[in-house]
Amino acid sequence: MHDFKYRERDLYCEDVLIQDIAEEVGTPFYLYSYNTLRNHFLVFDEAFKDIPHMICFAMKANSNLSILKTFIREGGGLDIVSGGELYRALLVGADPRKIVYAGVGKTKEEIRYALESDILMFNVESPQELFLIDEVAEELDCKARVALRVNPDIDPMTHPYISTGLKTHKFGININNALKEYKLAESLEYIEIVGIHKHIGSQIVQISPFVDALEKIIFLAKSLKEAGINIKSLNVGGGLGITYKDETPPHPRDLAAEIIPLLSDTDHTIIFEPGRVIVGNAGILVTKVLYTKLGEGKSFLIVDAGMNDMIRPCLYNSYHEILPLRENSTSRKIVADVVGPICESGDFFAKDRVISELKRDQLIAVMSAGAYGFTMSSNYNSRPRVPEVLVKGKEFFIIRQRENYEDLVKGEEIPEFLL
Ligand SMILES: *Cc1c(COP(=O)(O)O)cnc(C)c1O
Repeated sequence: MHDFKYRERDLYCEDVLIQDIAEEVGTPFYLYSYNTLRNHFLVFDEAFKDIPHMICFAMKANSNLSILKTFIREGGGLDIVSGGELYRALLVGADPRKIVYAGVGKTKEEIRYALESDILMFNVESPQELFLIDEVAEELDCKARVALRVNPDIDPMTHPYISTGLKTHKFGININNALKEYKLAESLEYIEIVGIHKHIGSQIVQISPFVDALEKIIFLAKSLKEAGINIKSLNVGGGLGITYKDETPPHPRDLAAEIIPLLSDTDHTIIFEPGRVIVGNAGILVTKVLYTKLGEGKSFLIVDAGMNDMIRPCLYNSYHEILPLRENSTSRKIVADVVGPICESGDFFAKDRVISELKRDQLIAVMSAGAYGFTMSSNYNSRPRVPEVLVKGKEFFIIRQRENYEDLVKGEEIPEFLL
């Protein structure tokens, strides 16, 4: 469900004509619906209201401060993967005791920053990381709360680049060694074990991988208990998929119906780290047709956004629906590639797409662009990054300015000998 809908022939975001925003901010730009964002968060939260739970939004999916604030105001926590994300989280007023920190390559400085900030816990991905956290905690004379991220060796049945829970992946600690590593953790003076963490991948559209993985970590929790290690929380990660084209992912309620019974004889707090499912369909990328090349054999619509603005089609061959901001009922359909201005053949938003024939200067929306869209953007080809706009009801707000050429060279210096 989302709030991007046609009224008559024009595409609206909530009660705002998207064309009006384009006139004010120019193209391309990312556009988000506040109502959709908030609803998605609340629906997820509501699904698990009957069990002790915490929802830590995976901010790598979308880390704009206003969007983080939207969830924090509803009581949400955050899942972070870097010092930079911690900085954003604290800046926007997130409660540190609702911040969980994953990632295979945390640096010493990042660990110190997180300990000084008193975050809820580290999701530790290797024994070496455990030793380093213990060492830094000793320097700061504090206890570091940790969960071990275990790799349950479950195939999430999604794109290989976004699968993380097979033993061939770099993430987590092999579940078969977990007991040993928990005992190691217990022997460290400045480590306090609080949980188990797993995250098996992204854009998962079936329930069974979640159930299988949860069963494995519940079993691990029992083994730990027998070994005298009592954990407080089970963190089941994120990964719930969304509809880009014709996928039928489970509703959070369906997921809840399957997993709550598994937890009936435990009193663990369940932590969720949803990213894509909260923000994916709450955002679009608006771009303008610059040129059309309707050739023999192959046709192209060349738009003003490129793979630097949204890399998902290039990186994952992902499908994004493309809608004109103004429907033209009479126009005929063509088959075309929708491509950007970048000097790479991977710079496309759609291939061989049946689309209404569009003319120069017409605007289109690349749908389902709210997750891993802006956060994965870059300045490749020295293109300033695009603005982000948030709609609430009849109003819209620029929540990030368009970069300018000066921003592009910020921090660069030419050494004396070249002058
Ligand atoms: C990326 C990530 C998530 C979020 O994944 P989604 O598919 O966007 O829900 C959650 N937890 C961890 C550890 C991650 O790396």
